[in-house]
Amino acid sequence: MSSSPPLPLKIGIIGFGPFAQFLTKTMLKQGHSIAATSRTDYSHLSSELGVTFFRDVEKFCEVGHDVILICTSILSLSEVGRSIPFNHFQKPTLFVDVLSVKEYPKDLLLHILPETCDLLCTHPMFGPESGKDGWKYLPLVYEKVRIRDENICTKFLAIFENEGCRMVEMSCTEHDMFAARSQFLTHTIGRILSEMKIESTPMDTKGFQTLLQLRDNTVKDSFDLYCGLYKHNKFAKQELDNLELAFQRLKQKLLERTDQI
Ligand code: NAP
Repeated sequence: MSSSPPLPLKIGIIGFGPFAQFLTKTMLKQGHSIAATSRTDYSHLSSELGVTFFRDVEKFCEVGHDVILICTSILSLSEVGRSIPFNHFQKPTLFVDVLSVKEYPKDLLLHILPETCDLLCTHPMFGPESGKDGWKYLPLVYEKVRIRDENICTKFLAIFENEGCRMVEMSCTEHDMFAARSQFLTHTIGRILSEMKIESTPMDTKGFQTLLQLRDNTVKDSFDLYCGLYKHNKFAKQELDNLELAFQRLKQKLLERTDQI
């Protein structure tokens, strides 16, 4: 006897910016239904995509979503979160955030969500650029913070599993520790290269082309995103200091060595 395909999820998105639009295309492809609300009016773009867009947040909340996906910027999470009219939700809902920092949304959402709502904190470690040719082997980091309805949570995570993502379960704190040393560092180096206004030359090496690519990828993300990585990851300041110290040490070594010649 063949098992019937899993029922599609009704997913509501809060914050319909570039990353939400990118995720939406795959979720729609998998047959889920998407509604969205955002500070900006995305009605036109939404109707082209096949998404129901709500300018009125209260009406958006009344749809009866299985999952609410929070895709707003890190810097606006507090303001956006506190403006959600939770009393308009029709049933206990799974809240999922995709912010690029993790301890901050976990603490804030645990504080403001109604006790009846579940919480899954996620960070897809890819974006419109790195995931444009598919999500295979790209990491999805997540922590099941408060899950009572395992069925809905499993179905949501399956969106990423079905695309071949590498599923990485870890605590939000561990995520932030690793991310400060990897993602925040990557963005910082990319933005330093952008400040230096590096440009292609007639004799680029492969290494230099890699730097140009890094610069281009980094500056495609909003500056708000970069600020959020710094402001709301308690490990980021230390990494910025480490970078500065490493630069000073290297410069010192270089000067000492060349002075001896
Ligand atoms: P972003 O600049 O981090 O966030 C843009 C979103 O935030 C838009 O929906 C925007 O709404 C909303 N927003 C910004 N300020 C607001 C305010 N004051 N009030 C209400 N809404 C506000 O760009 P993003 O790339 O789309 O990222 C969205 C989220 O996904 C972020 O939390 C980011 O950390 C996470 N993420 C991004 C990537 C990536 O590769 N880009 C990867 C993984 C996770 P409007 O569009 O309506 O103005």
